[in-house]
Amino acid sequence: MSDEPTGEAPAAGAQPYDPAMLDLARRHAGEWLAALPDRPVPPRAGVGEVMDALGRDLPEHGEPADAVIDRLAEAAEPGLSATGSPRFYGWVIGGAQPVALAADWLVSAWDQNAVLRIISPGTVAAEEIAATWLLDLLGLPAGSDVGFATGATSAQFACLAAARSEVLRRADWDVEAQGMAGSPRIRWIAGAERHGTMDLAARYLGLGAPTLVACDDQGRIRADALADELERGEGPVIVALQAGNIHSGAFDPFAEACRIAHEAGAWVHVDGAFGLWAAASPRLRHLTAGLADADSWSTDAHKTLSVPYDCGIAMVRDAAPMRRALSLQASYLQAADVGADPHEKVAELSRRARGVPTWAVLRHLGRDGVAGLIDRLAGSARLIADGLAALPGVEVLNEVVFTQVCIALEDDVATEALSRALWTDGEVLAMTSRWHDRAVVRFSVSNWGTDAAQARRTVAAVGRVLGELRAGGGAGAAGGG
Ligand SMILES: *Cc1c(COP(=O)(O)O)cnc(C)c1O
Repeated sequence: MSDEPTGEAPAAGAQPYDPAMLDLARRHAGEWLAALPDRPVPPRAGVGEVMDALGRDLPEHGEPADAVIDRLAEAAEPGLSATGSPRFYGWVIGGAQPVALAADWLVSAWDQNAVLRIISPGTVAAEEIAATWLLDLLGLPAGSDVGFATGATSAQFACLAAARSEVLRRADWDVEAQGMAGSPRIRWIAGAERHGTMDLAARYLGLGAPTLVACDDQGRIRADALADELERGEGPVIVALQAGNIHSGAFDPFAEACRIAHEAGAWVHVDGAFGLWAAASPRLRHLTAGLADADSWSTDAHKTLSVPYDCGIAMVRDAAPMRRALSLQASYLQAADVGADPHEKVAELSRRARGVPTWAVLRHLGRDGVAGLIDRLAGSARLIADGLAALPGVEVLNEVVFTQVCIALEDDVATEALSRALWTDGEVLAMTSRWHDRAVVRFSVSNWGTDAAQARRTVAAVGRVLGELRAGGGAGAAGGG
């Protein structure tokens, strides 16, 4: 090979990659990861400040690659949340297990397009093994179709696309050919406390807003109310249930709800973005009794399982409707002669091999390690709930059955002041929300590093911040006691 440029295009670097670049990235990543356990949890800079630090103007001429990476690491870092901190309890966001992070780096370096089996047998094999293991761990029917999506929302979309196809097919309507205009109306039903992304996934599919069914005080769908709603009409029906309410962690009564819904001819989907993992713990599995009776399930690997963002998982019992809804026949795509290609089970065509880190973490933990992870998260939530309940004026509002703890002080003003004070303090990140018409502070235990010691440190930090707030009389938090 000659060193001389041969064409008219500018010459690229002499090497396909510069190993020093990976070393540089590794150094910055190592510094970030090493600081995680003790750095402030919330970001300290806003978007505008980070833009200033990055430099807003398009450069006329480039700068060396190492300078770009140094600039990125230095400018962005103050604007990052320590989502990998063992005291990050905001929203429902997981950390990254080291083995999954390492696998994710390989996925980036390999840069495979996991669209077709023939392009990347190496990553498709790992994803297909992970898929089989996931069904086993979660107690779902072997042989269900499994797609690796960007998150639970897009996994819900994939599952609901299969559901829509099937309930309309049973009403003699071919939605893939005929579209939605003029189709039989689909009755789309969900619990009043479903996650908002169920509405979003359904909206993409033209299902409109769900008809809502009453829930009990923990946010579980009421089976009697579901039965009443189903009796009110006929025709194609889709019902969404939930494993893991984001405020209470509660689980819908799957066995009874699936029976009632199936008697009415419904397709039942379960959103278990974080809660589905209870099924992988012998101690907590009872929460998901009847789960396998549903027709489709969605979950995240980037939450409870702690693989790096992003990875959601769509699972559908019957492959046929999933393929009808999502597969693409095109002359340039050479279909596999065995099994489905990865793109036939998700909304994406081209995508990264995002299932590989899931394979790595399952291989690393094994069945008992996954159960241990789930039990540790739920056990830490229990410790946090008990510790917080003992602080003056703190009320734990939910039955702590899984990983969620919802607390409130004497009134909304005080609760919101606590949330703001925690953010400013930075040792613990827990976000405010509203549940049953009350301001709450929500602790979502979703990080693999949150153990008993971190739970105790969390309670101590909240106690300290609350004490300071009450002593200072800040923002009404001391009042109303
Ligand atoms: C997080 C979450 C979702 C959405 O998941 P994404 O990965 O953010 O798309 C859906 N349902 C529940 C219960 C969740 O906690």
